Amino acid sequence: MTAVAVDLHAHTVASGHAFSTLDELAGVAAVCGLEMIAITDHGPSMEGSPHDGYFEMVGRVPSVVGGVGILMGIEANIIEFDGSLDLGFDALSSQQVVLAGLHERTPYVGTSELDNTRSILRAMAGGSVHVVSHPFRPRYPVDVGEVSRAAADTGVLLEVNVSLIGRALDRADEDTDARRTVLETSRMLEGLSSRGGLCVVSSDAHHSSELAAFTERAGRIIQALEIDTGMIANRSVATLSEAIPIL
Ligand SMILES: [Zn+2]
Ligand SMILES: [Zn+2]
Repeated sequence: MTAVAVDLHAHTVASGHAFSTLDELAGVAAVCGLEMIAITDHGPSMEGSPHDGYFEMVGRVPSVVGGVGILMGIEANIIEFDGSLDLGFDALSSQQVVLAGLHERTPYVGTSELDNTRSILRAMAGGSVHVVSHPFRPRYPVDVGEVSRAAADTGVLLEVNVSLIGRALDRADEDTDARRTVLETSRMLEGLSSRGGLCVVSSDAHHSSELAAFTERAGRIIQALEIDTGMIANRSVATLSEAIPIL
């Protein structure tokens, strides 16, 4: 029995810097026993990512591929301090899952904790975001107390990014940025838990091998950060669909 049944964050070749197709990811998910995965390619403002028309075509993908439920979504980029995302309203409202985050190689120019926190809070208040991806990264520091409070208030899920946190845990002894990432993520989860908010534990896979390792790595991180499984929205399809309107 694994602690996660769904992966809400995976990239295909369409992102321009990832290496597997949707069918390859679904095949690996089936072997791993995942019930459902979300395909969340990067939003159009990121260098090399797909255009709006790609996201308008999501209805053409079957809801089940190789026995695995497929949710079609986006990892949108927050591009302005007012929380604006880089996808037009029509395409955005067709997505089953909307992740949003701050990224390099996009028009976002903020650097300070104040800029980043304000931008994420406003994106959450906008009503179209289901999940904030990797809420704390050293490149984009945020006030994790403010972010967790706003997430609990708005019902937006905060991500524990297995790719990022796994690397940070591996290097925490010798790298201050890695240690800070683990510490701030733990503080964020404490804040979220104390206010009744929920998180998702996601692979952020850019190759099928990362999805193949997802459940094992997620289990290790859940244990290391002592995450209460009751606050993990993607522990089952049922708990996820209570948290966000996926079906
Ligand atoms: Zn990201
Ligand atoms: Zn991603």
